[in-house]
Amino acid sequence: MEQKRLGKTNLKVSVIGFGGIPIQRYDSKTALETLAACKDMGINFIDSARAYSVSEEYIGTSLSEIGRDNFYLATKAMSRTKEGFYNDIITSLKNFKTDVIDLYQIHNVGKQEDFDKIFSEDGAYQAALQAQKEGKIKHIGITSHIKEMAEKLIETKKFATVQFPFNAIENQGLTLFKRAKELDMGVIAMKPLGGGILADAADAAIKYIVQSGMVSVAIPGMNTPQQVEQNVRAAKSGALTQNEKLELDKLAAEIGKDFCRRCGYCLPCSQGIDIPGIMVFEGYIKRYGLASWAKGRYETSAVKASACIECGQCTSRCPYSLDIPQRIKWVDKYFADM
Ligand code: SF4
Ligand code: SF4
Repeated sequence: MEQKRLGKTNLKVSVIGFGGIPIQRYDSKTALETLAACKDMGINFIDSARAYSVSEEYIGTSLSEIGRDNFYLATKAMSRTKEGFYNDIITSLKNFKTDVIDLYQIHNVGKQEDFDKIFSEDGAYQAALQAQKEGKIKHIGITSHIKEMAEKLIETKKFATVQFPFNAIENQGLTLFKRAKELDMGVIAMKPLGGGILADAADAAIKYIVQSGMVSVAIPGMNTPQQVEQNVRAAKSGALTQNEKLELDKLAAEIGKDFCRRCGYCLPCSQGIDIPGIMVFEGYIKRYGLASWAKGRYETSAVKASACIECGQCTSRCPYSLDIPQRIKWVDKYFADM
């Protein structure tokens, strides 16, 4: 597996890393099998988040068996206050069962008020500096889904890495990555498979990122050894073929930019609706022609989209500003009218 320097951290990371979102939906045995495959196939970078429920714990338990020292550990938290962020770091250390985390990122910064809070005297950045001084974390990074905010954050020159969405249908981060490289920052591509929407073209999508030459490490979410093997094989398999380029262009035209990445940041819904689980039906209806099959699955949902009271809590948390109530209600109506 090709390794790259993660900017000024000087860590040599595998170009494919382990993204820790999906593992939270499975169990610790699945995590162990998947991470053991990562180790066997040369993946040495793990990324998780405090927001991914049990992901850090599953990773920590797995690493107790297969060896913490085989990996660079990265995670991230969304607390904006000094106290909250410091507590998050302590929790992550406990979850990972380690004394030090290689990269801790201030996560999902989108609004100016977040920016102001983070850099205030009692803000998250002060906690990160303190933890770094105490040897609890080695490097401090930043993540965002909003290009203008990510640009502003990297220009503070306070961070060793930037993590931003990048994949075959979302390449608005390229200029940002170019600037990050000029500043000798490590570049981490989040959502390399578009949160799963590129899963059917996974090989081409991985090749696209590796060949861009713009990222230090891409972190597809993985929950089986087979996915690990597939992603590693794709990363090693050379240039995109003409057919693969056409396939990606076709997908980009079909999907557009306005799709759900299944990140789950919109949760919890005040009415208990599984928002990403319902948003996924849009694709089954509009792109895959699987409406009948999807209707059967939708009918087993514990809470239907019709329960939405349009409280707006989810919309304010979605980093892509998707009109969630309108879209899940469209799904509900589509199935009702079938
Ligand atoms: S707007 Fe609807 S879907 Fe969103 S949190 Fe409120 S009830 Fe849930
Ligand atoms: S609706 Fe938005 S926040 Fe929720 S899973 Fe989809 S992209 Fe993420």
